[in-house]
Amino acid sequence: MYRNLTFTEQGWGEKAVAAMEALAAKYRQELAAANRENRFPAEVYSELGKLGHVGIFIPKEYGGSGWGAAEYCLINEEAGRLGIVSPQTAVQGQKWLLAFGTEEQKNKYLPVIADGTLPFSESISEKGVGSSFNSMETRAVRDGDDWVITGAKTHVNMGEEALLTIVYAQTDEGLTAFMVEAGLPGYSAKRTDAIGSRLIPTADVVFDGVRVPDSALLGRPGQGMETFLTTFNLSRLGNASELIGYGRRTLGLAIDYAKERQVGSSVVTDFQAQKWAIADAHQALWSAALLRDLAATRIDAGEEHALETTMAKNAAVDAALLASQTAFNMVGGHALYHHEPFFEILGDIEVLRTAGGSREVLRNFAARRILKSETYEGIK
Ligand SMILES: Cc1cc2nc3c(=O)[nH]c(=O)nc-3n(C[C@H](O)[C@H](O)[C@H](O)COP(=O)(O)OP(=O)(O)OC[C@H]3O[C@@H](n4cnc5c(N)ncnc54)[C@H](O)[C@@H]3O)c2cc1C
Repeated sequence: MYRNLTFTEQGWGEKAVAAMEALAAKYRQELAAANRENRFPAEVYSELGKLGHVGIFIPKEYGGSGWGAAEYCLINEEAGRLGIVSPQTAVQGQKWLLAFGTEEQKNKYLPVIADGTLPFSESISEKGVGSSFNSMETRAVRDGDDWVITGAKTHVNMGEEALLTIVYAQTDEGLTAFMVEAGLPGYSAKRTDAIGSRLIPTADVVFDGVRVPDSALLGRPGQGMETFLTTFNLSRLGNASELIGYGRRTLGLAIDYAKERQVGSSVVTDFQAQKWAIADAHQALWSAALLRDLAATRIDAGEEHALETTMAKNAAVDAALLASQTAFNMVGGHALYHHEPFFEILGDIEVLRTAGGSREVLRNFAARRILKSETYEGIK
């Protein structure tokens, strides 16, 4: 569903889809096992890196692909559709590094993020801090030329596997981002068991007096909120794309099944109620994809895109949930077993409904934007 995406290179879309389909086919069993076991499939991720699908925004001189939002959307949608590990956390990290990193940090980290050999995580959320940053308790204090970071983060994708994390902490100057290499004294991570996104497992991550030099600062002390905000619209678009991919997968699997499923003298897709449900879910996925494409085009053109990315993620959440509900209903009892894929996909959808900006937080943002204008403009 990439009708309105313009790629840097003509014909890139077809080639990229074919490469990801081949990757999914080669590693089908490994991906299914990793999902069951809540395990990061490192080999698949490094293959994704070799395709250039991890270092999406990293310029070629740092070993990346130098692509834009259009390519990012296609890669995420295909990752969702095919059940491949997503490069999402690495994308957020590379954008932060590109915007705020020193030349030394970029040279050190970008090439190994791009080739998929440096798994990366973002340590932001805390037990008491999800949607609101104001009460963040993790602190970093100066000690001579160093900083000492103390706090506990939760829900961190790749928390256990990451070799590098960007941690957000309060300092005297305000919210500040630090690049912390895993394995430093005082750093520990314990895996948690989320219902979705299980190929990039979550963990609780503890910083117990972790000492880092000044060179670990990403940007200036107090610049953390600015750092965070630079990527969050883009990352919503990645979430939207993955959600559309999940919706396509679950609906597609259900249609394949229902077309063959004989119930009395009919097959399931003969029933009008099922036909309407299929039409509605397909339409919702298409609408979300078109909104997503519009937002991606605006990003690549350097235009304002905050409302479009927000609406795209909201539309994608609704569409994916509708597709999932339609799939469960169409397949009936046979969908309701763990060995079938439908519940696993619903878990992935539910995670992205909340992670990276919950449905309510996004609606608040959209409403604020709409109400900011003196007159309501409607669809332009
Ligand atoms: C699987 C998974 C992976 C994640 N990965 C990461 C990661 O890699 N790094 C990281 O730092 N974090 C990560 N997160 C955390 C994620 O970003 C938070 O879960 C999210 O920000 C919501 O925070 P919360 O769960 O504490 O919910 P809360 O903030 O406690 O919200 C609870 C409910 O209240 C609603 N709500 C909150 N504020 C408002 C409001 N103003 N108006 C109306 N309703 C509101 C929310 O929508 C939600 O429904 C992940 C979470 C999950 C589940």
